[in-house]
Amino acid sequence: MALINTTIFTDCSSSSSTARLLLFNNTTKHQKKLSNNNISYFGSSSSVQFGISSRTSSRSIITHCSSSSASAIQVDNETSAKVIDGKRVAKDIRDEITVEISKMKEEIGIVPGLAVILVGDRKDSATYVRNKKKACDSVGINSYEVRLPEDSTEEEVLNHISKFNDDPSVHGILVQLPLPSHMNEQNVLNAVCIEKDVDGFHPLNIGRLAMRGRDPLFVPCTPKGCIELLHRYDIPIKGKRAVVIGRSNIVGMPAALLLQREDATVSIVHSRTKNPEEITRQADIIISAVGQPNMVRGSWVKPGAVLIDVGINSVEDAECARGYRLVGDICYEEASKVASAITPVPGGVGPMTIAMLLSNTLLSAKRIHNLR
Ligand code: NAP
Repeated sequence: MALINTTIFTDCSSSSSTARLLLFNNTTKHQKKLSNNNISYFGSSSSVQFGISSRTSSRSIITHCSSSSASAIQVDNETSAKVIDGKRVAKDIRDEITVEISKMKEEIGIVPGLAVILVGDRKDSATYVRNKKKACDSVGINSYEVRLPEDSTEEEVLNHISKFNDDPSVHGILVQLPLPSHMNEQNVLNAVCIEKDVDGFHPLNIGRLAMRGRDPLFVPCTPKGCIELLHRYDIPIKGKRAVVIGRSNIVGMPAALLLQREDATVSIVHSRTKNPEEITRQADIIISAVGQPNMVRGSWVKPGAVLIDVGINSVEDAECARGYRLVGDICYEEASKVASAITPVPGGVGPMTIAMLLSNTLLSAKRIHNLR
């Protein structure tokens, strides 16, 4: 196919979500036979919007990876990698959560509750909040929503957080980001009590994630979803070489910490890394969370590696009704011919993020009510 060199649209990049103690108990017993079909549109994250990264950039961006590029490698026409079907796994997880919630309701009369605070009238934020509510409804979690006008004061937001902190029917609190610029995001996020911080962004949660012998109350949702995919596909992590591309607080950094907790030997690649492909070529597992379409070429991948693509990027495509399509950070066309397993975009990590948010909310309710 032709190489289309376009620059990209608006920037609406960002991030996502949560974690759980359960994660460290390993989940392979839940191993399911997973098919390679059913690839779908991505889900939404928790309080931070990740949505579509489409960065405005002065340099051209690879919207289609093609072997005509200098960096492309020679590959077979056959796709060899197993497709890691995040949509399917996320559905399995939602089904498991539904069963647990209905048991909890029956046995102790408790229903987990998730509260979301939305400030302003950004359409994308409203869509994310709507999706979260739908996801909660689908598994039986009660959702509570507060919508405040753009010109609300920080104090008003803090008051709502404080009420939710004290409300026993609320087990998880999300503040949808971004907040209006007159508010101090850190002040607001720090006000969420750590026991209800289902996004896992609180410094105490991240600190515990980083320390040996400590467990966070919640793990950020997107990295948790990446590790869950590896578990559910029975992909070994212990002793493997892993490379995380990106070091954001919400995805790259916690993903690296999680891999380390799973006894992988971890390297982190970021925007200042020289010759990143030399590092990624050593990896048995790559998690990419960058927001650059098709950056990771087939030639960056060691044969047989497992590839988890967190990136969600929009690229112009006149053949699509919307005029654009979504691609990951990893050049799927090339890399899928070299790797042993790969997540698609959409339909890979995206649906896992919201499933992990639901999982964290259930975890919180169980912990608050002393259930195992
Ligand atoms: P972010 O905060 O912008 O962080 C991007 C990271 O990538 C930074 O650490 C940056 O390095 C690094 N980076 C940028 N350009 C690079 C390059 N050329 N080579 C190597 N590293 C580079 O983004 P984020 O919030 O982590 O999100 C990353 C991507 O994941 C986005 O596409 C986002 O939409 C997507 N996302 C998806 C989900 C999901 O559920 N699927 C959830 C969250 C995010 P520096 O630190 O040096 O600047």
